Amino acid sequence: MATVIAPQPKVGMVSLGCPKALVDSERILTKLRADGYAMSADYAGADVVLVNTCGFLDSAKEESLAAIGEAIAENGRVIVTGCMGSEAELIRAKFPQVLAVTGAHQYEDVVEAVHQAAPPSQGPFIDLVPQVYADDGGIKLTPRHYSYLKISEGCNHACAFCIIPQLRGKLASRRIDAVLREAEKLVAAGTRELLVISQDTSAYGVDVRHETRTWKSREVRTHMTDLARELGGLRTPDGTPPWVRLHYVYPYPHVEAVIPLMAEGLITPYLDIPFQHAAPNVLKAMKRPANEAKVLERLREWRAICPDIAIRSSFVVGFPGETEADFQYLLDWLDEAQLDRVGAFRFEPVEGAAANDLPDPVPEAVKEERYARIMEKTEAISAAKLASKVGRVLPVIIDEVGEPDEDGDTGATGRSQADAPEIDGAVYLRNVPEGLRAGDVAQVLIEDTDAHDLYGVIAGN
Ligand code: SF4
Repeated sequence: MATVIAPQPKVGMVSLGCPKALVDSERILTKLRADGYAMSADYAGADVVLVNTCGFLDSAKEESLAAIGEAIAENGRVIVTGCMGSEAELIRAKFPQVLAVTGAHQYEDVVEAVHQAAPPSQGPFIDLVPQVYADDGGIKLTPRHYSYLKISEGCNHACAFCIIPQLRGKLASRRIDAVLREAEKLVAAGTRELLVISQDTSAYGVDVRHETRTWKSREVRTHMTDLARELGGLRTPDGTPPWVRLHYVYPYPHVEAVIPLMAEGLITPYLDIPFQHAAPNVLKAMKRPANEAKVLERLREWRAICPDIAIRSSFVVGFPGETEADFQYLLDWLDEAQLDRVGAFRFEPVEGAAANDLPDPVPEAVKEERYARIMEKTEAISAAKLASKVGRVLPVIIDEVGEPDEDGDTGATGRSQADAPEIDGAVYLRNVPEGLRAGDVAQVLIEDTDAHDLYGVIAGN
């Protein structure tokens, strides 16, 4: 007698928010695939739709609520997860038909909610647990050649403009052996670039007193330096080291220990440090960690050890109480700091953040004007720094290869070591040879630059 196998239930996913939320979505989907679910690319084909929300800014909340509304209108069977899960009442009041609301990182709860909403089919033919992140198994929303590696959740700080600690709780570091195993699998499956993310990468392991674990018969501490060294020791299937990029690092003194690893080529010479401001009284009002005057000195020391290090940062303008003198201090500081990549934001109150109660809000028109000035300043710095790269040959990781044009010239887009995906610039290549693929690392002669991007050709081509 033939065994009748019920069709696989299908899950749709709408993923909003930051790279960290994307990693959560990947994990949830990987687990659901392992449980026998298929994925649906559209609302109509889904038995249930998961909306992974972001609640960091009020504008992100609105986007999340709009996404929930759309999923309900289009499909009707909706489960909400992610940062806005901590506001279940609000969601239920607006959308009583939502099937379940779970919080950020409650993977088991989300998966259980999906099981309730659309029970999985059972059977030996569909119950195979896919090899997570293997060629045919892992569900990855990022291109295969780069992957985010989340090392901890939550944060021990209390920055006045931020509600992450309320949403995600105190710092909880993942075991270093588990992080390294995940990284090793990713690299074995084709990842050429690992992007280390957390809320505060330099604090990794503080909550577990930097406990030691065994990895490959070695003792490794749950610490950023040990993590960086071990990640730098991984090898792709063709024997090359992956790029390892550190995000959300604060300039604590111990950060200095990773700079020699960059100089040795073990990890990518790139640090993403969200300074947010430079004026001491604004930093104080923001309650920022590592808020001290030595930052410029540190930058000089780091550049002396690793001249190619690229420093990326983000800044908030128009924070309550920011005076013209504070803002000018920031512009002068940027002249000194000569950061490679800068993102700027106008201060936006976030519901529940301490900064909302601060006096002296900055008028919107002043925020706009300061935003335009900081962009002008940082673009000029970036343009000059990039111009100095003309004539150099730089390693570039290829993100996308185009189709040949009418002259048979094929272009490609990639990134130098100074460019993280999605937030920094790009390298545009002309006339690439046949066979070049996304994930390849090519040596590129830089021919031209503008304020954000580089233009070049494969060296020796
Ligand atoms: S360090 Fe500050 S801004 Fe970053 S997550 Fe923690 S509280 Fe928020």
